[in-house]
Amino acid sequence: MVKPFVPELVYIEPRALDYPLGRELKEKFEGMGIEIRETTSHNQVRNLPGENDFQKYRMAKSTLVVGVRKTLKFDTSKPSAEYAIPLATGCMGHCHYCYLQTTMGSKPYIRTYVNVDEVLDSAEQYMKERAPEMTRFEASCTSDIVGVDHLTHSLKRAIEYFGQSEYGQLRFVTKFAHVDHLLDAKHNGRTRFRFSMNADYVIKYLEPGTSRLDDRIGAAVKVAEAGYPLGFIIAPIYLYEDWKEGYRVLFEKLQDRLPDHAVKDLTFELIQHRFTKPAKRVIQKNYPMTKLEMDEEKRKYKWGRYGIGKYVYQKDEQEEMKNVLGGYIAEYFPEASLEYFT
Ligand code: SF4
Repeated sequence: MVKPFVPELVYIEPRALDYPLGRELKEKFEGMGIEIRETTSHNQVRNLPGENDFQKYRMAKSTLVVGVRKTLKFDTSKPSAEYAIPLATGCMGHCHYCYLQTTMGSKPYIRTYVNVDEVLDSAEQYMKERAPEMTRFEASCTSDIVGVDHLTHSLKRAIEYFGQSEYGQLRFVTKFAHVDHLLDAKHNGRTRFRFSMNADYVIKYLEPGTSRLDDRIGAAVKVAEAGYPLGFIIAPIYLYEDWKEGYRVLFEKLQDRLPDHAVKDLTFELIQHRFTKPAKRVIQKNYPMTKLEMDEEKRKYKWGRYGIGKYVYQKDEQEEMKNVLGGYIAEYFPEASLEYFT
């Protein structure tokens, strides 16, 4: 079982100590005997231990920066929500295909923001602008927030905040099973708790450092029993030799273990594997032994924003994926809704 994340090194921005959560975290990490360094800005987190880029990258993924979120303007977050709510960035996981490798560039450490109240006040403004329309906030656009939340509880605060709101809903997705502290949060059904699921092969070879399939399913069961609306994101859908069987086993296990009430309001999101040329270079540098197949010749090129196109599967492969996985959803969870395939 993958253990809950504990940073090897912690940086604290001085301004973070103006906030109760900043002080609380400092005390907590001191008590845990973790090395703490001060930094005036996260951009100064240089000189991470390590002799080369490879070692520094791994160290960064075990480094937590406790800071203050300056930009309180939220990004949009289509197709799953209206806005991305920033509670943390970065992730301790080592998924080979992860988009954070390119978006976070040379700074792949994890940051948590202690000014949660200010972030939530900002969310309030966005809700007011759209009311009486519902506004959905996605908390996992730039991190796997659940993976770090057992230390910070800022996600828990957000869950309770939206639980009391009139026009807000929260959603996030995780590959981690460390959910116990979230089970008693007063969510009032306004948070959709999603797990990223995949065929065992993909988890085993391409998602090191994250919770294994059975642990994720166990966590999903607990979350469903705590009354949260549940969802699964099957991503990235990856065509390996036995993919049809691998994904069928996944659906079988889910059906077997989920409580009856959970399957009535269950959502699925399906996302095929894709990569860009710059991402491929970074992945090959960070994970030189990866089994992740990224052969441009075998893929279909899809034009993208900023001139950076993605390589997705061929049209007929996409159709097959949609049919096979859509078929499993219909067979194993006839009451669930498929939100999108992309
Ligand atoms: S768990 Fe998610 S955010 Fe973290 S490395 Fe894996 S894909 Fe990236």
